Amino acid sequence: KKSDFGLIGLAVMGQNLVLNVESRGFQVSVYNRTTSVTDEFVAKHPGKALVAAHTLEEFVQSLATPRKIHIMVKSTAVKDTDRDAVDAVIEQLIPLLDQGDIVIDGGNSFYQTTERRDTYLAEKGLRFIGAGVSGGEEGARKGPSIMPGGPASTWEVMKPIFESIAAKVDGEPCVIHIGPGGAGHYVKMIHNGIEYGDMQLICEAYNIFKAAGFTTDEMAKVFNDWNEGDMQSYLIQITGKALEQKDAETGKSIVELIVDKAGQKGTGQWTLLNAAENAVVISTINAAVEARILSSKKKARVAASKELTGPTVNITGDKAELVKKVHDALYASKVISYAQGLDLIKTTGESKKWNLDLGRIAAIWRGGCIIRARFLNKITEAYRENAELSNLMLAPFFKDLLSKTQQNWREVVSLATLNGIPVPAFSASLGYYDSYRAERLPANLLQAQRDFFGAHTYERTDKPEGQFFHTEWPEVIG
Ligand code: NDP
Repeated sequence: KKSDFGLIGLAVMGQNLVLNVESRGFQVSVYNRTTSVTDEFVAKHPGKALVAAHTLEEFVQSLATPRKIHIMVKSTAVKDTDRDAVDAVIEQLIPLLDQGDIVIDGGNSFYQTTERRDTYLAEKGLRFIGAGVSGGEEGARKGPSIMPGGPASTWEVMKPIFESIAAKVDGEPCVIHIGPGGAGHYVKMIHNGIEYGDMQLICEAYNIFKAAGFTTDEMAKVFNDWNEGDMQSYLIQITGKALEQKDAETGKSIVELIVDKAGQKGTGQWTLLNAAENAVVISTINAAVEARILSSKKKARVAASKELTGPTVNITGDKAELVKKVHDALYASKVISYAQGLDLIKTTGESKKWNLDLGRIAAIWRGGCIIRARFLNKITEAYRENAELSNLMLAPFFKDLLSKTQQNWREVVSLATLNGIPVPAFSASLGYYDSYRAERLPANLLQAQRDFFGAHTYERTDKPEGQFFHTEWPEVIG
């Protein structure tokens, strides 16, 4: 019997995806460049419907047509001229495949690279899907959130397998056809940017509690409690668990023993670059990426901590009240972060004519992926009520939420600022909210400055739009 599905790349993600696909009743052929990895993997799972292939020829021959080949190898290509392991595998596959066979890249590929591959494989008569797969190892095994992009007709062929392996929430699979070409990997990239925002916001809440003298156990309880309420999410849940964790050797809180230098693989930075290219403000995600960058400059921070002064931290008062205030600041900031991320998806989707459904995208993030959270339901509802929503903040539920939380949000940002506790993502979110709702910003003065030094001209409030004026400003000497 020929296999229903083939997977290339048996590292952690590939192995877990294979076990997931096999567990849904499909026979899976597997191939890995280093063949010992293939043998060890298959030997470790006796009795399963797995076919080990030692060459790509063998692998391709073992698959039923149209072949469905999922590549899960290291992806590094970003620039047009870059070629990575995914390209290497594709090149080796091309001469072995038949017209209409389907190649899926399930790695974290950059969406423009996906678009290049989509065009290239179409020229060869092959079908291509660029699918973002979120949820790490556990998601891959038990059910990830999958964001596939490519032709709708190819999606239809893949749908039964993808829907059966995806996470399920309220009986609905966490996978939809996102859109053509690079749309799937694009949405996965923004998902990762949003993930950066969520993580940084949680860290800022933690930092305030720490400054207010909470023990790690007290903080763990706060996050565990929040995980029972409107802010229920995977990231809140693991934060509570991480704070509870004691080091086996010393008995101390493991979190407090971890060096405060954050790593990153690049998807957050890609999101920033993309936002800049599209002139979309994603200040919360921006702050989150920059916070990781600053954290990594540990030596410089240690040196500066002895040179640059700040206020003495003095946070007193009722702890329960502080918890409530920080809850509101975190929730409101999170809403802003999603509003920004979705604005970026919407803007790019429109310019690319991808015809994206933001509500359904939010719905597939409810399970399987790192940003899974209860409140995503509210985003889905908001777009279901109004698909043309210009900004998430303006949906009735979120408008009301921002109105109810803002006093506490402002107090938390003030408290942190007065105590010299950095809250770049909380304050970036608040700055966005206040700028977005401002009928008049100080950009009038900015336009005056531009006209002053560069004769860039300006429009007037008392003249029709589209008429441009210039002032003969006085000459400045020196
Ligand atoms: P890695 O990114 O570490 O990739 C290792 C795999 O790539 C191995 O199977 C390796 O084969 C293969 N490989 C590397 N170079 C080549 C090449 N030139 N030709 C053929 N095969 C090659 O594995 P992961 O499982 O961590 O991730 C796979 C993909 O999934 C990546 O794109 C990653 O970004 C993405 N991803 C990962 C997540 C995670 O949590 N790890 C989450 C979501 C997505 P060999 O054994 O021969 O070296």
